[in-house]
Amino acid sequence: MTVWIETELCNGCKRCIKACPYGAVELKDGKAHILEHCTSCGACVEVCKEKAILTDVEPRAIPDFKDRKGVWVFAEQRNGTLNRVSHELLGKAQALAADLGQEVSAVLLGHQVSGLAKILFDYGADNVYLAQHRALKDYRTIAYTKVFEGLIMEFRPNILLMGATHTGRDLGPRVSRRVGVGLTADCTELAIDPEEGILLQTRPAFGGNVMATIANRYSRPQMATVRPGVMEALKKKGNKGNVIKYKVSLTEKEIGTKVLEQFKEKKKEVSLSSARVIVAAGRGVGTEEGMKSLFSLAKAFGGEVAGTRIIVEEGWLPVERQVGQTGQTVRPEIYIACGISGAIQHRAGMMGSRYIIAINKDAGAPIFQVADWGIVGDLHQVVPELTKAISQSKRK
Ligand SMILES: Cc1cc2nc3c(=O)[nH]c(=O)nc-3n(C[C@H](O)[C@H](O)[C@H](O)COP(=O)(O)OP(=O)(O)OC[C@H]3O[C@@H](n4cnc5c(N)ncnc54)[C@H](O)[C@@H]3O)c2cc1C
Repeated sequence: MTVWIETELCNGCKRCIKACPYGAVELKDGKAHILEHCTSCGACVEVCKEKAILTDVEPRAIPDFKDRKGVWVFAEQRNGTLNRVSHELLGKAQALAADLGQEVSAVLLGHQVSGLAKILFDYGADNVYLAQHRALKDYRTIAYTKVFEGLIMEFRPNILLMGATHTGRDLGPRVSRRVGVGLTADCTELAIDPEEGILLQTRPAFGGNVMATIANRYSRPQMATVRPGVMEALKKKGNKGNVIKYKVSLTEKEIGTKVLEQFKEKKKEVSLSSARVIVAAGRGVGTEEGMKSLFSLAKAFGGEVAGTRIIVEEGWLPVERQVGQTGQTVRPEIYIACGISGAIQHRAGMMGSRYIIAINKDAGAPIFQVADWGIVGDLHQVVPELTKAISQSKRK
């Protein structure tokens, strides 16, 4: 497999040099020159307008996926209660399916969970694939993977979405490996490419410094996980659908694991996901003492206090109150960012907020680019004033 240059056609435009991900093209006497460590990936061939780069590598054929239909969502439930991320994914699935002219299906696994189908229809499922078995009562990796594999092989979906929960993060990679496809984890945006009709899966990459869009041309289903709180649940009024019962055959021997006991870690419940107002602290608060005025403001609003990773690293807030790429994703009515610069990793968790108010003493702070209202000033003066004003307006 080789790549070579027809030097008389090359005009030295350097497009191939920029396109080569391996730095394996250089300019020599005004003409492109392929270096020894070229991998024959073909990136340079595609960008050469002069057709001066030739290769004997056959382009990879895109398989025919006409029989792959439907946007599937894993309807994650525990003890008969659906995880809210399933509702959110059904909301996104409705939009994706509409763009493709295909149907939305929820995949519900468990024991005596058929009653949940109605809720899944309410949130936009056209079909519910229902797999019920005593062995599916509690989530167990091998049992759920086997059932998913069978469903995918038989019903051949186009797209499969799962929540990036503890369960989804365990199940997704297993299923993708079983059916021989890729998986894009922790997507923050999903869309259909209007030309190719494939799923564009956007997620932070390189430590969150860039947003990468990943697409899969060569295998199906296209699989992605999405963290809770990222997508919006959309109720579909009066929606009715079909329940497709899937016969499961499982033995305890093949599953190999048993759930002996379930216990919940005892910790103070933090309801960032349901808070209507969040007052968020950034490094600008300066000290732990500086956090106090933010708690007063949150109290005046009846809201919650959250923070950036810096605040958690300082130990001024527990980790479950961190907002961002490696923390919580929130969508309150009002998000008040106090002394927060607005790094991309923080924005990843709060951009779904209805209104963003930023308080920062640096008028050039990036947070102002995404804020609906901005107050340039010292938070130690602004926050107490704001608290006073809110408390007074309540008394009136
Ligand atoms: C892989 C990875 C994952 C990450 N995940 C997350 C994540 O989940 N969440 C997260 O938040 N970060 C995350 N980060 C860190 C992120 O890159 C930023 O470092 C962090 O968000 C910055 O926090 P900050 O805004 O509190 O601090 P800074 O960036 O230091 O900003 C402080 C701001 O306060 C302002 N200020 C200072 N004093 C005052 C004052 N008296 N009044 C008003 N304003 C004042 C300053 O002008 C400045 O804009 C991650 C980073 C990486 C590499």
